[in-house]
Amino acid sequence: MPHCYTHDIDYPARHECPECRADEAAESRRRVIEQQEEEREDRWREEERQRDRHEEIVRLREREIYKRQNPGDYKCPECLYITLKRSASRCPACHAAITQDYWSRMFEVERLQAEEKARQEKLAAEEKARQNALAAEEWAKGEPERQRRAKAAAEEAERKQMEAAEAARVAASEMRQAAIGKGIAYLVLGLVIGAIVGFIAGLIIFLPVYIVAGIWMNDSQAGSALAEIVARVVIGVGAVIGAYMGWSLGTVDTVLNTKRR
Ligand SMILES: [Zn+2]
Ligand SMILES: [Zn+2]
Repeated sequence: MPHCYTHDIDYPARHECPECRADEAAESRRRVIEQQEEEREDRWREEERQRDRHEEIVRLREREIYKRQNPGDYKCPECLYITLKRSASRCPACHAAITQDYWSRMFEVERLQAEEKARQEKLAAEEKARQNALAAEEWAKGEPERQRRAKAAAEEAERKQMEAAEAARVAASEMRQAAIGKGIAYLVLGLVIGAIVGFIAGLIIFLPVYIVAGIWMNDSQAGSALAEIVARVVIGVGAVIGAYMGWSLGTVDTVLNTKRR
């Protein structure tokens, strides 16, 4: 019998897991509902757009009608439509006669309105100037404090810089001392190893030199002395080379270690 590991059940052969089938069906139902909702929202948005467009058209038409009924700059005292050009003597809509007295009153109203507007503008300008002056005063008052803070910040920055320089100097000096210390230890080690290697080399070289020199100088005692000198030189050279190599190795190793840190 096949087994579903998702639902941990057995199910008949040549069938699917019934739980899996139920899950799939639920999922596809959910997707259909989701899609229907999306479509409904799209429809609603489209209707909204059309409504807005229609309202805009209505607004434009109303304005046009109003403009047609009120083509002037001043209201006619008889028909009350805005049909009059400035100083007109007759209304083009209702044909009423417009008196000079009407225009005098109109112009007086206009003059008062203009005066009031100028007064308001002057007041606003004065208020703005006062605010600006206040702000400038506030700024000036804060100047000593700002300078003090800037100075403190500059001093702090300088102090930090000096601290960093000092730390770098100390680190460099520590590194140098460590290199020297290790170099000396390696130098001693190299000296010993070099001497041992030199001693072995001296032993090896002693016999051939002794024989060759003895035969050449026909004097075994002189050959022995020369062989001894050669062996000592070899030991010395070995020790010096060992010491040099130890020193180089020690200092280089320390420098590399410090850099890696
Ligand atoms: Zn299943
Ligand atoms: Zn009129």
